[in-house]
Parts: sequence; structure tokens; C-alpha cells
Amino acid sequence: MSGLNEVLKQAQSNGLAVGHFNIADFVMLKAVFASAQELNVPVIVGVSEGERKFIGVRQIATLVRGLREEFDFPIFLNADHTHSIASATEAAKAGFDSIVFDRSALPFEQNIRETRDAIAILKGVNSAILIEGEIGDIGIGSEIHDAAPDLSHGLTSPQEAKQYIDETGIDILAPAVGNMHGMLASMVEGKTKKRLEIPRIAQIKSATEALITLHGASGTDDDDLRKAIAAGINIVHINTELRVAWRRGLEEGLAKLPNEVVPYKILPSALQAIKQVATARLKLFNKLA
Ligand SMILES: [Zn+2]
Repeated sequence: MSGLNEVLKQAQSNGLAVGHFNIADFVMLKAVFASAQELNVPVIVGVSEGERKFIGVRQIATLVRGLREEFDFPIFLNADHTHSIASATEAAKAGFDSIVFDRSALPFEQNIRETRDAIAILKGVNSAILIEGEIGDIGIGSEIHDAAPDLSHGLTSPQEAKQYIDETGIDILAPAVGNMHGMLASMVEGKTKKRLEIPRIAQIKSATEALITLHGASGTDDDDLRKAIAAGINIVHINTELRVAWRRGLEEGLAKLPNEVVPYKILPSALQAIKQVATARLKLFNKLA
């Protein structure tokens, strides 16, 4: 079984991106895994600090490892947006494949120092773990926002990206390239789409030749996603779209069976709704659609 680094390099040489889906419960994990398994494509499951607190750090690591081993399948686990050394170390010790060490809210030089120090500690726990660093502003909260924040001043420049990678030694870069965490209500309704700065992605790629993640990709224009992958994006994060599907599917399951109390009879509606979104995104990222 290849490790995450090899899987990412392989996807890159095939012009594809690996899908990253945040999960908060077992139904979401089951749905994402079923989608990847049916399409036979590698997948990354992400859990933020909030999601980890709810599921349990060692518990989610055990669940994902169980799927990987039983089905001999390339499913990987990422500690998404981790803001402290303590919580990053906990994830590394639990066996996570990668960690997004996110100090992007700090001034640039301080972000560099703290990320560099974190890498030394985390690679000491597991030398194969991949560390992703973030620069620029892509907003916070994978939920539905009332208004779009102005992120235009926080876009990542190719020079900054190169300096950040050279001075920290990160394995993967998360830049700000027009992407944004969360969705506007109009995006949930499908009336508007996020648009990406494709030339900026291409410039960052050619300046750094690094692996690059696109965070906050829910609600992004499909063609922009295809162009972003062609320009050098290696991992695409989807969270809010899955959360919307989870809620709608759950409501549908409850409405369909108003007197039912058996969870495994109600929850398949949620599972199907999540699976539909994950499958559509994985097809696009892997050029299967
Ligand atoms: Zn993110």
C-alpha cells in the first residue's frame, strides 16, 4: 500500500487531484468511503479540531485504519486546521497521515517560525507524516455565511509561497487563491459560484513546484476546479457541501419515517445524500466525468 505522499505524486503525474472530505460522524465517513470505493480512487478524510473533539482523535484514527486495512484501500486521514503543537502532536501520535498546521492568522514571519518548530516536533513523532502549512486569508467556518468576507488583501503571492516553503520545510502548501471557507446562501441554492484565480495558482506552482491544496472548495465553479487542478492543485477540500447534504438527507429520512426510531433505517437517507455529493466531486477531481 502506497503512502499519502506517493498517492499525491501519482495523482499529480496523472493530472488529477485527490479529494479531501471533512467528516463529523460515522455516517459521513461511511458515505465518503463508499463513494471512493465505488469509483476506485484514493481519498482523504479530514477532521478539524472541532470534528476531532466530537469523534475522538484515536477513535477516528482507528476507524480509518480499519477501513484501509480491511479493504486494502488508499483512504488517508488528515488533521485539518490544527492551531496548536499539543493538538498536532496528539494527531501525529494517533497515526494521522497528515496535519494542516494552521498559523495563518499570525504575522508572516511568526507563522514561518512556529510552523518550522512544529515540523521538527511532528516529524520526530512520525517521519513519514506530511505537514501542510497555510498562508493568506481564506476566511473561517465551513458553514453558511450571510455575506462574503473581503479576502482580496489576503491572496498569496508566488514570492511569499516560495519563501514560506523554503524557510519552513512544509510538504504541502495551502494558499489563498480566491477560495473561501464556507458558502453563501446563494451558493447553497446554486445561484452563484466561487471563482478561482487560475493564473495565480499556476504562478505559485511554477515558483514552488510544491504540492498544493485548495481549501474551501465547496460551491466553486466546476470549470474553475478543472482549471485549478490543471494549474497545479493536488488536493481539494470539500466540507460545507457535505454538511448541507447531511442535514437535508437527515431531514428527509426523518420526514419519510415520522414514527421510526431505528437509526439504521433513518440514516441511510443522510448517507445517500452525502454520497451523491462526494461521488460527483470525486468524479470531477479524477476526470471521470
Ligand atoms: Zn480548510
